[in-house]
Amino acid sequence: MNEFVVYHNIIDEQLLDLLNNICHSLSYCKVNEHLDSNNAFFIIHIKKEADLEAVDLNYLVQKNFVMIITEETLVDLFYKLSNDNRFFIAINGNKNKDLLKINIKGFINYGYKVYELLHQIGELEEKIFDLAFATTDVLEQKEKMEDIAIRDGMTKLFNHSYFRDTLLKKFEHAKLNHEIFTIAILDLDYFKHVNDRYGHLKGDEVLKAFAMTIVEILDVKTDIPSRYGGEEFAIIFDKQDVEKAIKKVDAIRQSFTEKVFTYENSCFRVTFSAGLTHYSDKFADILEMIKYADEALYQSKKDGRNRNTIKLKE
Ligand code: GH3
Ligand code: MG
Ligand code: MG
Repeated sequence: MNEFVVYHNIIDEQLLDLLNNICHSLSYCKVNEHLDSNNAFFIIHIKKEADLEAVDLNYLVQKNFVMIITEETLVDLFYKLSNDNRFFIAINGNKNKDLLKINIKGFINYGYKVYELLHQIGELEEKIFDLAFATTDVLEQKEKMEDIAIRDGMTKLFNHSYFRDTLLKKFEHAKLNHEIFTIAILDLDYFKHVNDRYGHLKGDEVLKAFAMTIVEILDVKTDIPSRYGGEEFAIIFDKQDVEKAIKKVDAIRQSFTEKVFTYENSCFRVTFSAGLTHYSDKFADILEMIKYADEALYQSKKDGRNRNTIKLKE
């Protein structure tokens, strides 16, 4: 609704009509409280359909009514009124023409331009937000894909190639920085028998339970567990000697042997054998290091399974 409050010092009826006209041609107009004898301040909500063509603007000029709007005021007001396209217009009866003068048409055109620019900025901001959300989605997807690429689908432990890559990095790092680390290969005992007797699905359940046990015991900050392949698992114990690694492997053994699997009316437990070796700068490469751990594992199997063997390169 239009609202126009006449300020007290307008005695010129034509001027009053003109001001009324301006206000009525705009969608909303309100004289605020800051009236004084010479100035009136209007906050005008300009809509595009406002028709100022009919208003005799020359009369304002004749009466020395000039717009004393400065860009600063305008911008300031835009911020204050945030997303609304209201313009602050001061109409001044003061004869001081040193004040910045803009004719109404010019001002309104300028206002429209600012309004359009703000509108465009608003649209661009929305696009930026959309883009930011889309980018976050893409990054999340990328992270997920990267994670999938390095994990074993069934156990969710790291996969064989991640183990190899990490071992290579640790190996090179240890060589340069004289650091220590230990690796262990764990292999479930008589696992073929588990499959043959209880079925492949039960076998899968055992593999997942074994992986869970490993994760529960290990320290995510220093130990890197992976599914080496089939029913074999490999662990890198970073910055740890064999004694420390053995303790953790034994903790896995104790926890896993407590797990009882059921099948129809029977139940069973599963054990594992382990082979360990410790980094030495005498190892030619990671293949030789893995070979040592493998041979240690083979020894555990040979000695009756459900045990650990350490084979060190002297
Ligand atoms: P050992 O004590 O000497 O290690 O005997 P083992 O029976 O565990 O070893 P073997 O290498 O003879 O058999 C390993 C079995 O593991 C054979 C294979 O079917 C089974 N296996 C490998 N991967 C999977 C799997 O993803 N799921 C299931 N259920 N079985 C698997
Ligand atoms: Mg086995
Ligand atoms: Mg095996």
